[in-house]
Amino acid sequence: MSATLSRRNALAALSGLAGAPILSMFDAEAAPKAYTLMPQKLTDGVWMVAGVPEAINTANGGAIANISILSTSEGAVIIDTGPSKRYGEQLRVLAQSLTGKDVARVYLTHFHPDHVFGTQAFPAESVAATEGVIKGLTELGEGFSAAMYQAAGDWMRGTEVVLPKHVITSSVEDIGDRRLRLLRMKGHTASDLAIFDEQTGIIFAGDLVFLDRAPTTPHADIGAWKVALANLGGIPHTMIVPGHGPAEDNTRGLDQTRVWLTEIDAIIGQAFERGLDMTEAIALPLPEWTNKIALARYEYERTVMHLYPKLEAAKLPKVGGRG
Ligand SMILES: [Zn+2]
Repeated sequence: MSATLSRRNALAALSGLAGAPILSMFDAEAAPKAYTLMPQKLTDGVWMVAGVPEAINTANGGAIANISILSTSEGAVIIDTGPSKRYGEQLRVLAQSLTGKDVARVYLTHFHPDHVFGTQAFPAESVAATEGVIKGLTELGEGFSAAMYQAAGDWMRGTEVVLPKHVITSSVEDIGDRRLRLLRMKGHTASDLAIFDEQTGIIFAGDLVFLDRAPTTPHADIGAWKVALANLGGIPHTMIVPGHGPAEDNTRGLDQTRVWLTEIDAIIGQAFERGLDMTEAIALPLPEWTNKIALARYEYERTVMHLYPKLEAAKLPKVGGRG
């Protein structure tokens, strides 16, 4: 042990003189981790790299969200960049090898860290997001970064918050031969981007849709979210790529997300009305069907923990004439 430490000290001192590469050459533990990105072909020219149905941890490196790659005549289009710099770098290489071209455009669906922290691997001018996403990253990015380093550990090495430079203001963008409809919505967060690809009829829903994995709600407005789901459902489509869970050619993701939000909201609202405290609300049983949903109990507990304070605040008597 002490031998290791002194070797490290010696190497650290050496690297101070001769540069960092010497340290990493000798220190196997410091070798950067590599993600296993397995693209799933959805149709010609469209791939999804599926996230694992788990919470962020040091084994999965935060690779829990679905990432999509589309081929166009002008270059690859990437939807969401994953959880870390390392992920983004691997994603860029993967997109180049799948499409045979460099990346022409990157879209961020919302500001959550599992979707945006690979952005560093792409030129900021090529990364497009709504004003709301850029605002969210500006305000919350450093906090997200700290939380990601805490949860995922070494996978995050070198990852920094990078702000997109292309602000989405139009509702359609042509990238080469592909016309993409940019659907600016809200509900999962204050600004959610869904993308409809006219060529294939696929909706890339970001985290407005979860399938077989419980929705996350830390920045959600459940009412607005249900409106967004109804609007997405009104668009004739061939397939939905959810933010988390399998891509399918049916409305299961839309339906399941809506039912989850409705039922969880009702359980928590009723618990509050009955005067249960937060611990008692967390212990309540969930609907039977949610047994088949990954992370149901975990996300339910998290939802209680941020909805309860809101319900309590709403019940407090208003002061100062703002009533
Ligand atoms: Zn997500």
